[in-house]
Amino acid sequence: MTFENLSPVLSDALTARGYETLTPVQSQVSEDQAKGRDLLVSAQTGSGKTVAFGLAMGDELLEDGRMPYATSPLALIIAPTRELALQVSRELSWLYAKAGARIATCVGGMDASKERRALGQGVQIVVGTPGRLRDHLERGALDLSALRVAVLDEADEMLDMGFRDDLEEILDGTPATRRTLLFSATIPSPIVQLAKRYQTNALRISTVGQDRGHGDIAYQAVTVAPADIEGAVVNLLRLHDAETAMLFCATRDNVRRLHASLVERGFAAVALSGEHSQNERNAALQALRDRRAKVCVATDVAARGIDLPTLSLVVHVEIPRDAEALQHRSGRTGRAGKKGTAVIIVPYPRRRRVDGMLRGARIEAEWMDAPTAADVRKRDQERLMEKLLTPVEHEPEDIELAQRLMAERTPEDIAASLVQAHRALMPPPEDLIDNGPRGRDTAGRPERGERFERPERGAGGDQREGFEDSVWFRLNIGRHQNADPRWILPLLCRRGHVSKNEIGAIRIGPKETMFNIPRAIADRFAEAVIRSANEDGEDDSGVAITPAPDGPTYPPRRDKGGHGGGHSGPRDGAPRSTLGRAPSGDRSYGERPRGPGGPGGKPTDRYKPKPFGQRSPRRPSK
Ligand code: AMP
Repeated sequence: MTFENLSPVLSDALTARGYETLTPVQSQVSEDQAKGRDLLVSAQTGSGKTVAFGLAMGDELLEDGRMPYATSPLALIIAPTRELALQVSRELSWLYAKAGARIATCVGGMDASKERRALGQGVQIVVGTPGRLRDHLERGALDLSALRVAVLDEADEMLDMGFRDDLEEILDGTPATRRTLLFSATIPSPIVQLAKRYQTNALRISTVGQDRGHGDIAYQAVTVAPADIEGAVVNLLRLHDAETAMLFCATRDNVRRLHASLVERGFAAVALSGEHSQNERNAALQALRDRRAKVCVATDVAARGIDLPTLSLVVHVEIPRDAEALQHRSGRTGRAGKKGTAVIIVPYPRRRRVDGMLRGARIEAEWMDAPTAADVRKRDQERLMEKLLTPVEHEPEDIELAQRLMAERTPEDIAASLVQAHRALMPPPEDLIDNGPRGRDTAGRPERGERFERPERGAGGDQREGFEDSVWFRLNIGRHQNADPRWILPLLCRRGHVSKNEIGAIRIGPKETMFNIPRAIADRFAEAVIRSANEDGEDDSGVAITPAPDGPTYPPRRDKGGHGGGHSGPRDGAPRSTLGRAPSGDRSYGERPRGPGGPGGKPTDRYKPKPFGQRSPRRPSK
């Protein structure tokens, strides 16, 4: 077939590639009104934008269907990351192969002298990342004096990554007559400024909403207790059993940790982040392409531009920073008409934020609980049944072995051993703190009962030992965020480096939760909490722990579960020295206790709390 408005050599290349129609962005850049003009295009990842600018450049580059001989480049494409640049280079290679194009790739982390040699040999198209291109330009290896077209791919991302100076220096080194094509997922004001400065009478094209940006992606939002995030990842991987899955984390440290943990559990996983060399990244991608690996754990930046046709599952292990990042990450799947699933793991405290993000991006997601170990086992059984019942032609040798087995064991034994052998190859699913029967009322809503709280007193109604002198802390989550001691306790232990027994009462209110800690360890607890929080005082799942000198302002709920109810907590029962209450005049958290002599008396308390301070900022993800 032929594609209208395209040079035959490009049309043939698309047909040979098996493309039957142009995507919306490709049609629009090929229309007559776009010919020769600067273009400001907003198109999402997966929309076919790479081929789109490849086609758009055709008129400037081709002479009688051939690339002219050139001693310096005619077209320059600048992309934010190595992977994206390499991917662009691959796409342009097949698109312009018949036209006889010579393409050089100049990207950070690769051998610069090889690139200089390639540039010296005369290439018509150069694809690169901003920093490396600028280097070549400054050293005189890249001559842009004859440039006809400049393309900025994922321009918003390049500005976000701090490449403005590099881009400006590169563009300033090109002739004013060049055509400038600016492609960007979004057009925020810095992009508008850039367009104003470097484009003339640009045609604005937007196919967002029309193209396949996220049309073929089913979104799921899976709610979990913060302590269950990794367990949920394991179960999702096992349930979907995707040919290739990509897991996104916010930082390279978290990529490293999750990758190590998955490998330990027996998943064939690779990692991609800023800490990996180009060779390591290439090896990881190759392992995914030839199916030696099925799971890739990555940061947003490291995964940009990656196009893996078999990728059918994206898991946002940590919530993306905004709706654009959500779409970019998710756009690694559902590409070129294939179906994909994007799962966002949502710790309970982050539900509202994710809901807002999805609504802002007009994405309809299905909200659900994380798959349980039982769900995974059920799916395993279905898959095993299907696999083992598929007709196969057996080798005589295998039949002979089967007969020998049948002589020794019953068919049931043999079949069970076979199932066991298959199952042994799969990493075991994780038991999660479910939202199950104990936490739901008959209508399926989380139940609001006292039995989810941890009482302040023992079964006999007496004060729990060790908590006679205790300090109250506050969590910024309550019943509305599914607060439940089953996940709060492990979270407190992890954040505060204490054991379960060192946590006293847990009182869950509608939007906050109070708990107390023996005064003797409160300082250590508070310090550990600071160390395990981000700059904003919350951890990655949005949980903040702060001192609560006044203790709970709401009464404990009556205990339906028989935890020795009838108590009213330290507010009424504990010695006055606790911080469970602070009516005016009483000592509050942070004050020194009054000694036996009353105000001004000698301090007797070992505990001198420190204010909650700022942590050093996290390393940026790369
Ligand atoms: P991109 O948006 O450039 O990252 O492209 C997404 C994927 O769509 C790539 O794998 C392309 O090769 C593929 N693609 C681009 N144009 C078409 C088309 N017209 N028909 C089918 N697939 C396409």
